[in-house]
Amino acid sequence: MSVAVIFLGSGGSVPSKYRMLPSALIRRGPELLLFDCGEGTQRQFLQAKAGINRKMRIFISHLHGDHVFGLPGMLHSLAFMGRTRELEIYGPRGITDFVSAVNNSVKFYAQYPLTVKEVRAGTIVNDQEYKVVGAPAKHGIPCFAYAFEEKPKPGKFNPRMAKKLGIPEGPLWKKLQSSRYVRVGNRRISSRLVVGAPREGIKITYAVDTRPCATVAKLARDSDLLIHDSSFDRSASQKASDYGHSTSTEAAQLAVRSKSRKLALFHISAMYEDANPLLVQARRVFRNTILSHDMMTVYVSRNR
Ligand SMILES: [Zn+2]
Ligand SMILES: [Zn+2]
Repeated sequence: MSVAVIFLGSGGSVPSKYRMLPSALIRRGPELLLFDCGEGTQRQFLQAKAGINRKMRIFISHLHGDHVFGLPGMLHSLAFMGRTRELEIYGPRGITDFVSAVNNSVKFYAQYPLTVKEVRAGTIVNDQEYKVVGAPAKHGIPCFAYAFEEKPKPGKFNPRMAKKLGIPEGPLWKKLQSSRYVRVGNRRISSRLVVGAPREGIKITYAVDTRPCATVAKLARDSDLLIHDSSFDRSASQKASDYGHSTSTEAAQLAVRSKSRKLALFHISAMYEDANPLLVQARRVFRNTILSHDMMTVYVSRNR
């Protein structure tokens, strides 16, 4: 199943002529996972043709305005455009009050059930094929970093070998993929002869806004794509430290430390018209770095 990340908004704190506020969308087959919802996200979401009635979950990192002010508009527009499927929102303590305040004061009729859950560190969502894990980031207020992790997929099935071993096509073939062995007559046949080793899934970590820290490094371990706070360039490192953000160099160091395979610089400060210096500085530390921009799509695959 193809997995793509669409950077709906790649800026931070305030919008600029060049970048909208932070929001990153994981599109996994027909399903959507939205990380943060900065102001204007709904417009970008429509532009991405993401689909208004898909299975969808929203994860909010923290309750700074640039990460949540897009939520009221998003909820309203989804209702207006006829969403009927349940929508789940996850975030730190306070997210329930925020959504309730919107629902209680702004009148719109939503036909879709809305569930809001306040999260703790650990597994937040445990779906059949993936999970989402949260860990505290290091910011001025409670803030979560999230990792989306696909569960291992069953190994490749070899029908020719199954036939060769005399295993009749049908329920036993299915059983081979979930059990260690099957019985055919008085023979016991190991699944390993027919099914390859389980294939590891994709891992994407979203860590915004944060100082580089051990909890994020641990959460991001082995990510195929690490989306990390990269508000500033190296010359503004004091500012990054004072405001609970990271420089692109620090993001790159975190990518190295977590053994991530690719790094996307994200939450770029509005003070940069040209953010290329951030990219150049990061690549000196971690070569496989990209600079996200609004509406950029990155396909993530497991090449190991
Ligand atoms: Zn922010
Ligand atoms: Zn913040």
